[in-house]
Amino acid sequence: IKEKTGIQELIDLDKKHFIHPTTAIAQQQADGPSFIFTEGKGIYLTDVTGRTVIDGMASLWNVNIGHGQEELAEVAKEQMAKLAFTSSFATFSNEPAIRLAAKIASIAPGDLNAVFFTSGGSESNDTAIKLARHYWILKGQPNRQKIISRSKSYHGVAMGATSATGLKPFRDFTNSIAPDFCYVDGSSIEDLRKVIEQEGPETIAAFIAEPIQGAGGVNLPPEGYFKEVREICNEYGILMVTDEVITGFGRTGTYFGIEHFGVVPDMMCFAKGVSSGYAQLGGVVLNDKMHQDFIALSKGTLLHGYTYSGHPMACAVALKNIEIIERENLIENSKQRGLELLEGFKKLQSKHPIIGDVRALGLIGGISIVKDKQTGEGFETQLAPRLVAEAAKNGLICRSVTFDQDTLVFAPPLIITKSEVERIIEILDETFTAVE
Ligand code: PLP
Repeated sequence: IKEKTGIQELIDLDKKHFIHPTTAIAQQQADGPSFIFTEGKGIYLTDVTGRTVIDGMASLWNVNIGHGQEELAEVAKEQMAKLAFTSSFATFSNEPAIRLAAKIASIAPGDLNAVFFTSGGSESNDTAIKLARHYWILKGQPNRQKIISRSKSYHGVAMGATSATGLKPFRDFTNSIAPDFCYVDGSSIEDLRKVIEQEGPETIAAFIAEPIQGAGGVNLPPEGYFKEVREICNEYGILMVTDEVITGFGRTGTYFGIEHFGVVPDMMCFAKGVSSGYAQLGGVVLNDKMHQDFIALSKGTLLHGYTYSGHPMACAVALKNIEIIERENLIENSKQRGLELLEGFKKLQSKHPIIGDVRALGLIGGISIVKDKQTGEGFETQLAPRLVAEAAKNGLICRSVTFDQDTLVFAPPLIITKSEVERIIEILDETFTAVE
């Protein structure tokens, strides 16, 4: 990237003025940006030097309909020109927000029918946590304030969302987090019951979980896990919240990830794929009971709301995005291409000695890197970051997860074709060969 003139200025300004989120900041200062992207089309991104690569992560697991969809640009322009912003506080409303809320109610599982809008995933999880706590105050059980979450979970970086995050390094980033959070071993239903009993069920507001964990390494739940979670939550009167920020809007081959497990949560958080990243948007869907209880029991104002809750332009973009997901059959495509991706992973697994477990459900997948296939033992120095760098050289962007495992993760746009999946597998084949 450094060779072209003019680009050096961008690199210098980037280092001097742009604090990159979730980044090894010292390393980033030393290396500078690896790509300064300028354009995207479909599953491809092009940078300032003219290099084109496959966006094997749909950027941040979110560009579900792929890059460069002009219909979304048109809708955004039209809505912005007509009414870019207006308040949704109190009794004000706007048509895109109303129609999007109704649309989400129609596609969300079961009786999840009432939507609170935010600007992203972290705000959505903070909202679910605060609404759960407020709910129990209204219900006359003010001691129910604790939130339980799973190990290896990621729920975002707002104070509540970080506090709910099971990946400890995110919580250790500061010396204090929000109070009243507890963590369970995410692979053990027994541990959930044990923690509830230890803490006292009457002190617990909600349990929150990603149907399939993303940033923790693409981890599928144990067989039957969420059915039992639902039963345990019912038994102890605990609200069940699913974080569908990654798994929503077709990512796993169903509209929402929890549909694979046949249960309906009390609240469901979404973001990312709702707008495929074309606008900043998220939200929480509440079931009818919670919604009706809020209406019946609230005496004053629901003191929770973001300036951009129900943003007209963002909601208009999301409506068009959902229309495209449905029109182009992207959920079915996610399912089919996901099967091919998993097949490809398995072929790589049989060929390469350092590939351990592989998994994918729809277009979210993970490859574990191991020193010993039999024992699953990992390398002392994790290899995933090197593999990511090598894959990028070969034309594929993917991501490493290195918290307590050595993993490559993938989440390409849902518009990917069969031959593009095959190309990803070819690039990975070259990549593993080069690193082994
Ligand atoms: N929840 C999950 C499962 C996520 O993967 C993320 C982001 O990656 C978040 C929440 C946070 O969303 P945001 O970065 O939009 O605040």
